[in-house]
Amino acid sequence: MSYLDKLNPTQRSAVECTEGPLMIIAGAGSGKTRVITYRIAHLINKGVDPFNILALTFTNKAAREMRERISAIVGPDARNIWMGTFHSIFARILRVEADKLGYPSNFTIYDTDDSKSLLRAIIKEQQLDDKLYNVNFVLNRISSAKNNLISVAEYKKNETIQADDFSSGRGKMGELYEIYAQRCYKAGAMDFDDLLFKTNILLKQYPDVLNKYQHKFKYIMVDEYQDTNFSQYIIVKKLAAVNRNICVVGDDAQSIYAFRGANIENILNFEKDYPELNVFKLEQNYRSTQNIVNIANSIIKNNTNQLEKNVFSENETGEKIKVIRAFSDNEEGKIVAESILQERTIKNLDYHGFAILYRTNAQSRSLEEALRKLNVPYKIYGGMSFYQRKEIKDLIAYFRLTVNPNDEEALKRVINYPVRGIGKTSLDKIIVLADEKNLPLWEIVSNIHLYVSGRGVENIMNFATMIRSFQALAKNNTAYDVAEHIAKQSGILRDLHADKSIEGLSRYENIQELLNGIKEFSEREDIEDRSISQFLMDVALLTGDEKSEEEEKNTVSLMTIHSSKGLEFPHVYIVGLEENLFPSQMSLNSRQDLEEERRLFYVATTRAEKKLTLTYATSRFKFGTLNNSEPSRFLDEIDPKFLDLDFNPAKQQKESSLSVDFGDERKGFTEFASKPKITAKVKTTQLLAKAHIPTEGFAPSDTSDLQVGMEVEHERFGFGKVINLEGKKPDIKATIFFKELGQKQLLLKFAKLRIV
Ligand code: ATP
Ligand code: MG
Repeated sequence: MSYLDKLNPTQRSAVECTEGPLMIIAGAGSGKTRVITYRIAHLINKGVDPFNILALTFTNKAAREMRERISAIVGPDARNIWMGTFHSIFARILRVEADKLGYPSNFTIYDTDDSKSLLRAIIKEQQLDDKLYNVNFVLNRISSAKNNLISVAEYKKNETIQADDFSSGRGKMGELYEIYAQRCYKAGAMDFDDLLFKTNILLKQYPDVLNKYQHKFKYIMVDEYQDTNFSQYIIVKKLAAVNRNICVVGDDAQSIYAFRGANIENILNFEKDYPELNVFKLEQNYRSTQNIVNIANSIIKNNTNQLEKNVFSENETGEKIKVIRAFSDNEEGKIVAESILQERTIKNLDYHGFAILYRTNAQSRSLEEALRKLNVPYKIYGGMSFYQRKEIKDLIAYFRLTVNPNDEEALKRVINYPVRGIGKTSLDKIIVLADEKNLPLWEIVSNIHLYVSGRGVENIMNFATMIRSFQALAKNNTAYDVAEHIAKQSGILRDLHADKSIEGLSRYENIQELLNGIKEFSEREDIEDRSISQFLMDVALLTGDEKSEEEEKNTVSLMTIHSSKGLEFPHVYIVGLEENLFPSQMSLNSRQDLEEERRLFYVATTRAEKKLTLTYATSRFKFGTLNNSEPSRFLDEIDPKFLDLDFNPAKQQKESSLSVDFGDERKGFTEFASKPKITAKVKTTQLLAKAHIPTEGFAPSDTSDLQVGMEVEHERFGFGKVINLEGKKPDIKATIFFKELGQKQLLLKFAKLRIV
């Protein structure tokens, strides 16, 4: 069967429409990524050189998977496609063209920690109030300027921006931006935003360079187009200007990065930029069951700002969406872990078919704990990764310094680690000198005898000599040889080895693991450049979705919803559906932000193929204290007919949070919530039976004249008889004996009763 037969007619037309601009804005799971994948394979089959194809994805994982699928159709040629994230592709180009911008080709990529550390230093040096000039705020402001292609000069003369900064008492923002940019430049470093910002500068200032890449990239494809920012939009627009063979796919309902500058206008602009545009519409979802597609539709309907779409599924109806209430975050973790174990056993599945999605990284703790207790293997994506551990960052800082000695952040990190008698005062002196003379720190450090005399000088000279020896070694050796040598000679291995605590041991093992990874890298046959410099570039651009083959096969995936974009899993658990968590507290002030949260919920639900479970806890630890939480408004918005329990959980919670004594019922739910093991299968069904399905058109009666002995029907508890009434209006409590649940006391003004 040809690959073209694996497409529906519209998908196939989009794949075969290889020339000219093309846009597909379509719902989740409708095959947008599949179209891009097959379209690339089709181009190669038609004779297009893979070197002439540029495909931009949102994560490394997406690029990797796409490449694998393409290579299954076209063979090893797939290796040569220019495919990857915006950041990795343009870092690669910048490496070649760096000299034009005055950068070394081995420039360092500063991660967010480096950027913050540098900014913190600058704020301090400028003697600014670090509360007003909060480092996150300042970095965001600079980032947003860069993503909107606003240079330092433009920033400082833009009246709106200036007025904004002055009115908030932050008149020095422009200066901070300027100093930060200069310091990065002096250190031969670019931050993440620079990778796009500098690419734009390159393409603008060097028409010949632009021309070269315009002719190189004859066919351009962009996945997840709804989440591109202005800087990315302009790069793509420029590169596509000559051949105009550009294909973008996306879904406005899945735009979830506006907070980071993604601009949905890019979709609207696209139509203006390419009047000859071919637009394809995909409506059939191939990923999920009908129930899942239906609830996703019912969620997104609540947003006013949507392009009209009619997404449907012809897959099986599937199980209803399960909503589970837990009494605490720990219990929630336990429920999810036990449910995974149970589903896996009953249905004989692999762990890799399960994913747990959450709104914030902090939520992973209780889930991890529960999974560990049950020995369920898992892997966290995008969170605190291996490469963010201190010992790993330390060793990598040595590599960075070897490759680019001007790297200020790396130098500050390791000049006195392991301890070699270079104190903070000496370092401060070096920083001041470097600033006065407008030289990189390394210039001072490596010529320290010219500037300073006295005690610590010799230590600094020894350090410089050591780094120089590393540099000499790096010239002609593979990454592994260099890395192993540095790990030993720098003293890091010795330092960690001396620490016999459990943590020390684990840090030592981590370093060994890093070295093993570098060994593997040095032995790869599919790449030409196996230098330590290339290794660093790869590491800097990791997107937190890397997995070994073993992990790939047999682990449950844990990740934030943001990182789950584009992915799919047979079984998905979305946890923490609570007000102020999801939707997040920060989103509650504006309709736009709330709509972005809702799109996030839409993204989360549409990751599920077969079964979707939603959970929430009625109390949760936050900053060390236990807080009560209310179910998310999003639960209220779902059409209840797609839910597992035939009552609205949000409503249930609201009722029970009043001062009514729910006695047994509460206990019943705790049991249900905490024991969904094999035995709980029975429990659940029993409870569902108990969760009374009210008579059609259930309407509560006026109970002001309720009498002992009357028969009533409760919205959820079913039929019962009033056995006692006590208290005064409006606080009358009724004791009712329910057929299914036994005796209960209810506050009449809240109880939904129908007199039968
Ligand atoms: P998202 O919006 O989440 O990124 P998408 O539109 O990119 O989704 P894909 O990931 O390409 O959708 O496709 C969803 C699933 O449906 C995949 O498993 C894909 O292989 C499958 N699929 C897509 N089109 C078809 C088809 N014509 N026949 C069978 N399966 C298909
Ligand atoms: Mg996709």
